[in-house]
Amino acid sequence: LEQDVSRLDRLNIVGQMAANLAHEVRNPLTTVRGYLQLFGNKREFQHYKEQFCLLLDELDRTNHIITEYLSLSKNKSVEMKKCSLNEIVYSLHPLVQADATPSKIEIELKLGDIPNLYLDGKEIKQLVLNLTRNAIEAMPAGGRLGIQTVVSGDEIVLTVADQGTGIPQHVLDNLGKPFFTTKTNGTGLGMAICYRIAHRHNAKVDIDTGPAGTTINIRFRTPNPP
Ligand code: ADP
Ligand code: MG
Repeated sequence: LEQDVSRLDRLNIVGQMAANLAHEVRNPLTTVRGYLQLFGNKREFQHYKEQFCLLLDELDRTNHIITEYLSLSKNKSVEMKKCSLNEIVYSLHPLVQADATPSKIEIELKLGDIPNLYLDGKEIKQLVLNLTRNAIEAMPAGGRLGIQTVVSGDEIVLTVADQGTGIPQHVLDNLGKPFFTTKTNGTGLGMAICYRIAHRHNAKVDIDTGPAGTTINIRFRTPNPP
């Protein structure tokens, strides 16, 4: 893990360049998306509804990729505040739902009675979305996606569980290495970013995987340091 984190640090210069580029690219993308949405809803374009949806999806995918590269730049300000992990997770529900909609996935959200933690809300959102996206992508034929928070001893545990095919050993060995992916459209940055965010929050990542699916636990210590 330490090795992967330092490997990721060496990518900071790439991240910094990507961050600058992303800022420049994002605004025009937002404009394009806005107009596409506007035109897509017009009566005269009803025949092209499907194409408009496809274009919007592709723009969203582009935006996800930009967000992942942006997360690589370390110099962005980390804002640790004492806040509710449950509220952060809950606020993502519509986004996760939207990701899950094309496949037959049932989302099971179980938010336990947990104390507030020092967290960077933006980073935790990114962490949760990276995990839920992988979980959803691991269940193309559908299944249950569990998202849970719970107190376990002196730890607060955030769990994302899927009923996908599991992670084979050779993939597990490479998990967290930037750009390692088994997907044709993958960036291979999701888990690398998860490890880094967990590391910044002094949290541990443990993975339980097998043919019945994958469970990823993010274990925060209590009290976690500011
Ligand atoms: P990406 O999703 O872009 O491929 P990630 O870093 O998020 O990059 O994941 C790396 C690889 O780990 C994936 O390509 C996939 O093979 C594997 N993986 C991650 N999460 C899961 C999961 N929940 N179930 C099965 N495989 C997974
Ligand atoms: Mg991913």
